[in-house]
Amino acid sequence: MRIHSINNGAANLRIARYIFRGEEYYGILRQGKMLSLLTLAENEEVSLPKNLEAFISQEDAQITVEKLLKTTNSRHIEAASIQLSEVQILAPVVSPPKIVCLGWNYSDHAAERKVTPPEEPVFFMKPRTAIVGPGDKIVKRSFVKELDYEGELAIVIGKRAKDVPDKDAADCIFGYTILNDVSARDFQFKDKQWTRGKGFDTFAPTGPYITTKAQLSDTRNLSIRTWVNGELRQDGTTRDMIFDVAQIIYHLSRVMTLEAGDIISTGTPSGVGMAMQPQTWLKDGDTVRIEIEGVGTLENSVEAE
Ligand code: MG
Repeated sequence: MRIHSINNGAANLRIARYIFRGEEYYGILRQGKMLSLLTLAENEEVSLPKNLEAFISQEDAQITVEKLLKTTNSRHIEAASIQLSEVQILAPVVSPPKIVCLGWNYSDHAAERKVTPPEEPVFFMKPRTAIVGPGDKIVKRSFVKELDYEGELAIVIGKRAKDVPDKDAADCIFGYTILNDVSARDFQFKDKQWTRGKGFDTFAPTGPYITTKAQLSDTRNLSIRTWVNGELRQDGTTRDMIFDVAQIIYHLSRVMTLEAGDIISTGTPSGVGMAMQPQTWLKDGDTVRIEIEGVGTLENSVEAE
């Protein structure tokens, strides 16, 4: 385990978007409760952006929260906190400017599919309409026969950036979450590219929260595991990434400008249903649970339309 908690002024938070009594808020997980940042700010008479996407893009707002957490007395923190059972956690970023994913970025996954590891990262995109949150259904359309999961570590970008050298990659990262790169293998491989097979509505479950980079300064050796109906299918480590987070940022930002809220999903380790003997596809009622060390647990079940 190599998670180093540092605090150099950067926001050191696990931050989530959620519904409480019919209203949307964002807040941080703290001592087993959800601390509403908007309520805390209002009570302390400071202002914060109204939504999490704006918060991600505003470094001064993050500094405000860091200060609030240091200076607010514990009774006021408690007064702005809610039991987790009373909130419904949503996808942390519902409308990212873009979702970019990597294909074949784990040496073990490339090997299980007998694919030569790429010399440069293979990027593809998912539409933001594919995003759903923790606990939401992955919808299996009747014409999809080969539905599969891919547990992945996802980067959330914090600021606009172009041509970022790998040594500076951390500067443009806000934090990390989990993304299930759900795939319809029949369409993915029938087509010569992956837009259709990876782009269905509900094919990008994300969450449950964003762990800011200050909480997770080293992403190079995190356990990443996926269960289907309680059966362990993927048991990997980010150590097997062919291109690490910094190299991914470098390569991608040479091509396209990164913007606050962008999600970059970093590829999946071995153990997908497509590589099982015999191949095993997701079906109605199956539950997929992805756990990444230091990042959280994301669970969604499949519903046939
Ligand atoms: Mg993938």
